[in-house]
Amino acid sequence: MTTPPSTSPDSGPTAVDAPEATAALPSILEHSRDKLTSIMLELGEKKFRADQLWRSIYHETAESFEDMSTLSKPFRKSLIEKYSLSSLEQATFVTSADGTTSKALYKLHDDELIETVLMRYEADGHRRNRKTACISTQAGCALGCTFCATGQQGLRRNLTVGEIVAQVIEMQRIAHREDEAQVAEGKRTTGELQGVTNVVFMGMGEPLANYRNVMSAIRVLNDGQGLNIGARHITVSTVGLVPQILQLADEELQINLAISLHAPDNATRSQTMPINQRYPVQELIRACHTYADKTKRRIFFEYVLLKEQNDSLEQAQKLGRLLNGLHCHVNLIPVNPTKEGSFERTDLATAKVFQSGLKQYGIPSTVRMEKGIDINAGCGQLRERAVEILGA
Ligand code: SAH
Ligand code: SF4
Repeated sequence: MTTPPSTSPDSGPTAVDAPEATAALPSILEHSRDKLTSIMLELGEKKFRADQLWRSIYHETAESFEDMSTLSKPFRKSLIEKYSLSSLEQATFVTSADGTTSKALYKLHDDELIETVLMRYEADGHRRNRKTACISTQAGCALGCTFCATGQQGLRRNLTVGEIVAQVIEMQRIAHREDEAQVAEGKRTTGELQGVTNVVFMGMGEPLANYRNVMSAIRVLNDGQGLNIGARHITVSTVGLVPQILQLADEELQINLAISLHAPDNATRSQTMPINQRYPVQELIRACHTYADKTKRRIFFEYVLLKEQNDSLEQAQKLGRLLNGLHCHVNLIPVNPTKEGSFERTDLATAKVFQSGLKQYGIPSTVRMEKGIDINAGCGQLRERAVEILGA
């Protein structure tokens, strides 16, 4: 979110008088850590200043250069003149009635709208409480899956590294504010400030179609001096772009890979996912085996349940046979109906029967009832509604 120009008078010995950066300036978030360091050295700054700057941006998630009190006043002034700190302007922010899910719609410099979701999970028997940011990688998507609101919008452009990372920074600020409110209420100690714990690339767009920027963004998110999101807490979801899956297998990243499979055979998959014509099921599963063998990582399969289309027991058993021998986990997700879509959600009882079919083949699965249905938290849906409301 762009920080509004400061109108307050000089408020202390370290405040900077220069006007705030505008979105017209290049975003400092576009640079890798190494690149940022070399730029700072060229500007005559010492390396430790670049490290301080990095921490201020990504660890402290300062809202403006002016707030970066560890940096000298002249250094801040030159940053303000040269860079903007973010490229996102918040257009809408809504929270579900149960408070677990918030969704932001951000406007980019060229008026494109993208969505970011924050999901809050309470601790259960197995896992501690966590906050997951669901982020977008493209404005729109070229792949046209028929059940997906983003897929119906077509591709407008790839997001830049800075636009991808900025979404996590925004969610981190929200999460930190919530942590601080809990500290104030005595529910936490400051030592426990947790922020965003997980990032999933499951917002608008196909991450592997914007491969280079997504990889660069992951390295920024993963940096221990910055946002410090562990690779094992980062999940990239793909429609199944085989060459990029094979490329990813060689990256030596410990991230999670989720494959949007949604059908056990070509006939069913091609009905809703045009990409299946290009990379059919068998080729995709072969790539998954290669990925699992190389990385030794378990693969997650996403399976959106479409009533009476892909949710029968026979289809579950077919899926079980297809995935047999692959170290994997299947997430079963009753479809989130979209405006244009003619799809209905599978009910919980049918989803459980489907799950039992997978179990016959030893395939573990979880039924995920999607969060944030009341705020159109499904991929691409908030933008769809905002375009109606805002006329954007
Ligand atoms: N393009 C990537 C990541 C973004 S979509 C991909 O397709 O994997 C993230 C997930 O949301 C995918 O599994 C996608 O199939 C699923 N999805 C899309 N529309 C949905 C809907 N209406 N209901 C439930 N899940 C949906
Ligand atoms: Fe694109 Fe993923 Fe939506 Fe398919 S499901 S249209 S790949 S964003």
